[in-house]
Amino acid sequence: MSTRFVIDPLDFVRNASTHHAKIAVGELLRLQDYLYESIGTLSYQISGIYDARNKPNLHIKVEGEIVLCCQRCLDKLHHTLDLQTVVLLAKNEFELDKVDKDDAIDAILATSNLDVLDLIEDEIILSLSISSRHLDGECEILKPEEAQENINENNDNPFYALKKLKKTH
Ligand SMILES: [Zn+2]
Repeated sequence: MSTRFVIDPLDFVRNASTHHAKIAVGELLRLQDYLYESIGTLSYQISGIYDARNKPNLHIKVEGEIVLCCQRCLDKLHHTLDLQTVVLLAKNEFELDKVDKDDAIDAILATSNLDVLDLIEDEIILSLSISSRHLDGECEILKPEEAQENINENNDNPFYALKKLKKTH
């Protein structure tokens, strides 16, 4: 295991700090649920920056390859992470509540010891929720030939779709 990297995020912004490092995919324990194979290394960078309104922000970048498990056919799915995100540091619960109402802004409470790898892992998992399945033409369950067959079946028998619907309900 690599050592955890813990920062005081407000100090980190005040000092305009930047940190970059590599992390083995296998060390991101919560991410394992999404993976087909726990191999490879990701590189990340975190920077403390004041935004235009003088609010403290963390800028996060994560790059690398991971092997996901397709949510549809459960086969392997190579995924390139190229993640760039900005997290606002809320100074207290009140500010956090206020910011949370705005969906466009990602915010966390600025605790005095923030585990950077935890935060990076959160951001990776957030970014996966919409993309963890093959494209239609590449998925084992929906191979082009099979998709074609389904269309023919539907054309030959107009009640096929309806019957199938009834069966599943
Ligand atoms: Zn698939």
